[in-house]
Amino acid sequence: MNTDNKYDVVIIGGGAAGLSAALLLGRARRRVAVVDSGKPRNTRAEHIHGYLTRDGVPPARFLELAREEVRSYGVELTDATAEEVYADRRVCLDDGRMLSARQVILAFGLRDVLPDVEGAESRWGRGLFQCPYCHGWEYRDRKLAVLGTGGSSVQQALLVRQFSGDVTLFTHEMAGPDGETAADLASCGVKIVQGRVRALVAGPESLTGVRLEIGELHACDALFYEPGAIVDTSIVKVPDCRTSENGCVTTDELGRTGVEGIWATGNAADPAAQVIVAAGDSYRLAVAVNAALIEDDVAQARSSLP
Ligand SMILES: Cc1cc2nc3c(=O)[nH]c(=O)nc-3n(C[C@H](O)[C@H](O)[C@H](O)COP(=O)(O)OP(=O)(O)OC[C@H]3O[C@@H](n4cnc5c(N)ncnc54)[C@H](O)[C@@H]3O)c2cc1C
Repeated sequence: MNTDNKYDVVIIGGGAAGLSAALLLGRARRRVAVVDSGKPRNTRAEHIHGYLTRDGVPPARFLELAREEVRSYGVELTDATAEEVYADRRVCLDDGRMLSARQVILAFGLRDVLPDVEGAESRWGRGLFQCPYCHGWEYRDRKLAVLGTGGSSVQQALLVRQFSGDVTLFTHEMAGPDGETAADLASCGVKIVQGRVRALVAGPESLTGVRLEIGELHACDALFYEPGAIVDTSIVKVPDCRTSENGCVTTDELGRTGVEGIWATGNAADPAAQVIVAAGDSYRLAVAVNAALIEDDVAQARSSLP
């Protein structure tokens, strides 16, 4: 860590989003610090899927490689939690340090809200999944199910149907589908089971079924569920930094929050961003951040002319 704690860019969050921005900015010879509390969203998954050339890599290995890469360009990685971000772009860490930056990137991800079902916590990422694109292939042609929570559960069931001919939609919290929707599901061979799921049932290695409130046990190898998301923006002490209904930081297409010098990317700004999207969006954002720095460099150079 620099002894003066002054950086061109401080990035809060060292997941795919934060490290991708750090790679570009490090290579652009900016002085960059990444502050990371070490709890990436996909930590419970065994592998990352859908990332070209990295398909099947364990999440921890992916981050290890990314950290090695950014370090090689002089980016400073600090294991700490950012506790407060101020409008003047000072960032207060939980170890008592105060970093100051010309630009701050919020890349602190989100927290998934798991269903109120026994066993959900222990099976998250290991039999209970949020994304069929990420984990459907590994469970192809097996007994699959969707936990109904709302409007998008029907779409999720139809998507899961691409991976197996044996798909069940447990209505759980959603209203039973209307006649038309039920006919759509039936025509694709998706079974509907009315009732609330009480528990996930698992053997030592894997999910084996779900148990309904009424006691029925249904065999199932993987259960898909669209989680709610909580983006914790409480550290951002900048009233003008806006959030959307789901808590995500509101940005323009480049990641500008509307507050001078504060940017947001990855799941902190878009809960639907998978790893490659979080990394790609952050690369583009980092180009814009660097452009803002160049503008500032020019202004400073001109003002220092005699
Ligand atoms: C079970 C599961 C499986 C998944 N599988 C896949 C998959 O196979 N393929 C895929 O593409 N996507 C997958 N995803 C989605 C993937 O997790 C996200 O796309 C990705 O994590 C987004 O990257 P991010 O950098 O925005 O956030 P994260 O990876 O969550 O990184 C955010 C980082 O910020 C840190 N942080 C938070 N607050 C602070 C703070 N105040 N100070 C400092 N640091 C902080 C966190 O500790 C974390 O390290 C999966 C998600 C889940 C839940």
